[in-house]
Amino acid sequence: MLREEIRRFVRDDARERFLRYVQIHTTSDEKSSTKPTTSRQIDLLRMLESECRALGLEEVHRSDAGYVYANLPASNGVACDGFGLLAHVDTSPEQPGADVRPAVHGPYGGAPIRFADDSELALTEADSPELAHFHGDKIITASGKTLLGADDKAGVAEIMSALAAFRRFPELRHGPITACFTSDEEVGRGTQDLDLSRLPRYCYTMDGSVPGELEAECFDAWKATLEFRGVGVHPGFAKDKMLNAAVVAARFVAALPEAESPERTAGREGFYYVYAVRGGCERAEVELIVRDFEAERNRARLDHLARMKEDFEHRFPRLAISLETKQQYRNMRDILAQHPRVIELALGAIADTGLDPVQKSIRGGTDGSKLTELGHPTPNIFAGGMLFHSRKEWIAESSLALATETILHLARRWAEAE
Ligand SMILES: [Zn+2]
Repeated sequence: MLREEIRRFVRDDARERFLRYVQIHTTSDEKSSTKPTTSRQIDLLRMLESECRALGLEEVHRSDAGYVYANLPASNGVACDGFGLLAHVDTSPEQPGADVRPAVHGPYGGAPIRFADDSELALTEADSPELAHFHGDKIITASGKTLLGADDKAGVAEIMSALAAFRRFPELRHGPITACFTSDEEVGRGTQDLDLSRLPRYCYTMDGSVPGELEAECFDAWKATLEFRGVGVHPGFAKDKMLNAAVVAARFVAALPEAESPERTAGREGFYYVYAVRGGCERAEVELIVRDFEAERNRARLDHLARMKEDFEHRFPRLAISLETKQQYRNMRDILAQHPRVIELALGAIADTGLDPVQKSIRGGTDGSKLTELGHPTPNIFAGGMLFHSRKEWIAESSLALATETILHLARRWAEAE
């Protein structure tokens, strides 16, 4: 149990940082070919760099590719392995992220939460049943026009606040800790050009949701691109000549297993997700992703796509179809299972804050999925945000403090582990 003074510091400091960081526009951009994909992310990275320096951290470095690294040396008399803490500064391009105006509501009593800039919008327990666990707590949202950016500025604020607490309260024991703030996670480029040599062997991302949750499993993820080449002819004279690529592509999409779609699956079920269909008579393209927790089940889905391609080629002999598949990330479960201590220490730290630790599977991926594959086992700890990538995104004030306290306990457990 942490002293009241430390808990108060953490609560105020994490909230103050969070409310400040969310106001900085850091939307990433999938279509950009630069790294970081948007230069506005550098505004926050620069601020974090100077705040790390002000805290007296060592080897503070901001790279042109959009990363900030900083090291906190071990506290006096502690000799143990270090670990890394990661959070991403960008927010999702799915919703506007400019001019975020955070609002602190509360204490929450069950009534719908209203938004200053959109009177039509309301956040209710029907949208987010988790609200029911936060009666009496203050709830932070944006103003209705933008996302909030708790994904993942909550994680950024919690890491910074924990580092500030380590500096301020020398009684908090910890080994060496490396903080790393990343860019472009939301557009799948969070680890591109990341300097792995600056990271310790084991890391944690602070990028989860519900307080108490630890995620050590994610999807096995593939992308598939299909191209259909048809035969274009003037439609008035097309009989027995035209082969409409767009129509065949539509039939192909309609022939995918209906029950295996994102809108029909939950829990541990996998799916095909068609996220783009474009084209015309001569050429059409279908882009989809394939997701499952089990690699074999995804392999079966990729085989199914290959068989469908053959069937369609057979049915439409003059049609050329190409199918390209690419692995995006792997389920980190199997690798993390070989490093149970990393998980156990985090579950213990969550329990130390008074929460019930819950191990969950991410129906998605994090920077940690890729890092784990690259030899840095990296589970994901809750950061507290809810309804990510929406204008109703919210976080309870207490969640920021709980996640920060979890980091303090985690560091102590690492320091005591050897
Ligand atoms: Zn995130």
